[in-house]
Amino acid sequence: MPESTIYLGIDPFVVSKKVFSGNAFAHVGLKSDLKVLTLAQNSFELVENEKDIVIEQYPIPSLDHGIKTKVLETQKQSGKILLTDAEIVVSGGRGMKSPDNWGPLVELADLLGAATACSRPVSDEGWRPHEEHTGQTGKIIAPNLYFAIGISGATQHLAGVSSSKFIVAVNTDKDAPIFSAAQYGIVGDACKVLPKLVDTVRQLKGK
Ligand SMILES: Cc1cc2nc3c(=O)[nH]c(=O)nc-3n(C[C@H](O)[C@H](O)[C@H](O)COP(=O)(O)OP(=O)(O)OC[C@H]3O[C@@H](n4cnc5c(N)ncnc54)[C@H](O)[C@@H]3O)c2cc1C
Repeated sequence: MPESTIYLGIDPFVVSKKVFSGNAFAHVGLKSDLKVLTLAQNSFELVENEKDIVIEQYPIPSLDHGIKTKVLETQKQSGKILLTDAEIVVSGGRGMKSPDNWGPLVELADLLGAATACSRPVSDEGWRPHEEHTGQTGKIIAPNLYFAIGISGATQHLAGVSSSKFIVAVNTDKDAPIFSAAQYGIVGDACKVLPKLVDTVRQLKGK
C-alpha cells in the first residue's frame, strides 16, 4: 500500500494512520456514530472517474452536532506561499552552515514559486523562523517536490516530509540517510550546488 493510502473498511470502520514518526501504521477502529477524519494536504492524487454521474440534491444538515472547536493556530497570508499549501518546498538544514548562506536558497524558492522550510536545529539556532521547521515536532507537509539541502534525513525530520511526491537531496555525505528517502540526489557542497541550481532554473524560466 502506498505510504499515503488510508485503508478504509466501512464495517467495521477502520482507518490507518501513521505512528512512530511515520515508521509504522496503526489501524484504528472508529466506533462512534459521528466520525471525523482529517487528511493531510496532497495525500491523495486526483483520479479521473469516467463513470456517469447523477447529481443528487442533498440538504445540508444543521451543523449543531455538539462538536466543540478550538483555534490552535492562525496563519496570516502575507503574500508568501504558505508552507502547508506549497506544491514545491525548498528546505535547508545545518549543512547550510550559517544563516548568511540562505540567500541562494530563498532565490531558488522564489524562482520556483516555492515555500521555504528548514530542519529543527536550524530554527532552534534562530537561523530561520520557527514556523518553517518541518518534522515530528514541526509542520507535516506533502508537497509535490521537496528540496532537502544540507539536511541529514533524521527520522524525526522525515516524519514531516516523507509523504512528498519527490525529494531532491543535496548533501556532501553520500551515505546521509536523506538519500534513501530521496528520488534524486546531488552529492556536493550546498554553497556550490545552490548557485548552479539557481542559474539553471533562471535559464529554464528565461529570467
Ligand atoms: C524528540 C525529537 C524531535 C525532533 N523533531 C524534529 C523535527 O520535527 N524536525 C527536524 O528536522 N528535526 C527534529 N529533531 C532533530 C533530529 O533528530 C535531527 O537532529 C535533525 O533533523 C538534524 O538536522 P539537520 O539534518 O539539519 O542537521 P545535521 O544532522 O547536523 O545534518 C547536517 C547534514 O548536512 C550535511 N552537510 C554538511 N555540510 C554540508 C554542505 N556544505 N553541503 C551540503 N550538505 C552538508 C551533513 O552531511 C549532514 O547530513 C528531533 C529530535 C528529537 C529527539
